[in-house]
Amino acid sequence: MRVLVVEDEPKLAGLLARGLGEEGHPTDVVASGAEALWMARANPYDAIVLDVMLPGQNGFEVCRELRAADVWTPVLFLTARDSVDDRVAGLDVGGDDYLVKPFSFPELLARLRALTRRGAVERPAVLQVGSLRLDPASHRVWRDDAEIELSTKEFTLLEVFMRSPGKVLSRVDLLERGWDMAYETRSNVVDVYVRYLREKIDRPFGCDSLETVRGVGYRLRVSPSC
Ligand code: CA
Repeated sequence: MRVLVVEDEPKLAGLLARGLGEEGHPTDVVASGAEALWMARANPYDAIVLDVMLPGQNGFEVCRELRAADVWTPVLFLTARDSVDDRVAGLDVGGDDYLVKPFSFPELLARLRALTRRGAVERPAVLQVGSLRLDPASHRVWRDDAEIELSTKEFTLLEVFMRSPGKVLSRVDLLERGWDMAYETRSNVVDVYVRYLREKIDRPFGCDSLETVRGVGYRLRVSPSC
């Protein structure tokens, strides 16, 4: 596998490049986000090892820009801090895994192997279906540029629909993915929330994207107009 290492500490960068090279993996090293963005767009890497604490743009910002530029190479973050916030932030910007410093080289290799088995899968951080956009990280929803206020439950249900656009989802499907066990037998709760959602994401915009499929369930239509 060909690897890009983005690390501003020369000693660690050197160790990684040498270690990966000895394992037969061609490795390029850069020390800044700007260089990383340039290199990652110009070369077909199989994985990027990305330090979070970089001068200028930090690793999260670099990853976000890569994904925005349609670069889906798996990213393994290196973080000095083992805070939950860092891990969450890393995954939310489209990273794939993280390793806390100090780490062992065999573990880095194992993580990279796991990531490259998966390959570069397109997985946008923000979901989009037609003119609807949903950001799971910030819990925000828009139709075109208009932001829509949703309750937690409405948001959860819309996210389920937006992860399966164009697919018919039964009430049971929706209950299982959006509600806990206590609601298992109350399938009418789905109808109620679909109605709430329509009032917010469709009606004000003259859309009817949440379609009822008689006797089966609901579908989030993919239409060019909405
Ligand atoms: Ca650093």
